Amino acid sequence: MNPVDFILTKRQGGTHAAAELDAVMAAYMRDDIPDYQMASWLMAVCFRGMTDQETADLTRTMAASGDMLDLSGLPHTVDKHSTGGVGDKTSLVLGPLLAEAGATVAKMSGRGLGHTGGTVDKLESIPGFRTELSDREFLEQAASVGVVIVGQSRDLAPLDGRLYALRDATGTVESLPLIASSIMSKKLAGGARSLVLDVKVGSGAFMKDLDSARELARAMIRIGRHAGLSVRAVLSAMDRPLGREIGNSGEVLEAADCLRGRGPADLQELCVILAEQLLAAAGIPKSREQLLTMLHDGSAWSRFESWIAAQGGDPSAVSGLPLAPDVFELKADRDGVVSGLDALAIGRAVGALGGGRQFKGQEIDHGVGIRIEAGLGSTVRKGDTLLLVRHRGGHGLERARELLAAAVRIGASVDVGPLVQDVIAD
Ligand code: URA
Repeated sequence: MNPVDFILTKRQGGTHAAAELDAVMAAYMRDDIPDYQMASWLMAVCFRGMTDQETADLTRTMAASGDMLDLSGLPHTVDKHSTGGVGDKTSLVLGPLLAEAGATVAKMSGRGLGHTGGTVDKLESIPGFRTELSDREFLEQAASVGVVIVGQSRDLAPLDGRLYALRDATGTVESLPLIASSIMSKKLAGGARSLVLDVKVGSGAFMKDLDSARELARAMIRIGRHAGLSVRAVLSAMDRPLGREIGNSGEVLEAADCLRGRGPADLQELCVILAEQLLAAAGIPKSREQLLTMLHDGSAWSRFESWIAAQGGDPSAVSGLPLAPDVFELKADRDGVVSGLDALAIGRAVGALGGGRQFKGQEIDHGVGIRIEAGLGSTVRKGDTLLLVRHRGGHGLERARELLAAAVRIGASVDVGPLVQDVIAD
């Protein structure tokens, strides 16, 4: 296929056959098609879109461009994808909870970049925890413990990696079929049969409003259907952070509390809804009450301990994870109600303190973070602590304070929208 014809077809609003997409993408991976031609095609997609069939075909091509995990020997394999949230530690809770409910969670997870943290970074704050396992160890632990989460050691969907970097540099990220196929290609390569998508909505999220979040969720569900996966989506609020802790060690502590029935209400609620939807998609439904019982009777916690120990971590060390020693308290400058708690700015503030990465491979400080003392809708008096900032010797504190001063608003009242804004089943 001549790459110029390929670009022109899309520019004129035409559609590509699967074989054509396959051939062009294979040529791109061999460096037979240069970035400037691929970027031109991506821009045409931004304006012209892609049909469901084209989107599903591109997803399959990207998934097949690298390793595809074979989890077929394991029962009820499930996966969760979050479109990226601040304070989102749900994977740490869902892993053991889903395993306890009879599902298998065998997952390769990314590290954090930008304002959201990564599950692997959070797990690495537990002393001894190994995020690199051999293929055999990975599969054996999945079979014996029901939950294993490692860093992305295998080359999953490398074509997506190349296209994403190019989109980032050419203003072509914001295209629904490109976003949906990018996310789903990595999920297809991950090998699980059932998937729940936590599509975040609001100022701290990729999708700023409910309608575009719904559109993205539906596009990903359709791709899943084409690929024979069972997919559901939960649309959850990200105009404020999830839970009270933001920062790696603090988030592990909060997830551990949740697994013992003592977590903040919003985190517990989202975990239970995501688990309920995923288990229904996997054909092993559990009621909300059954899931809450697992969180309160010690069974989910005991599964968490087995998981951490299986990967070399010390479960007894989790409750005493070290936090950064220096503390700054952001205080209310007037009486009122917390009417704004900007998730994006709070995520960036944790990054400035050293808890997040600005570039790939950067070392991070697991102990720094922010604890929300007065959540959205809380009534406060002048002088009350709003946020507790844990820093190390003032590193990044000035920038964090600037961001946080603008992140918190105090007003007369606020309408706090629901945490879960919609659920979309296959
Ligand atoms: N996340 C992804 O993985 N891909 C996109 O295109 C956008 C967000």
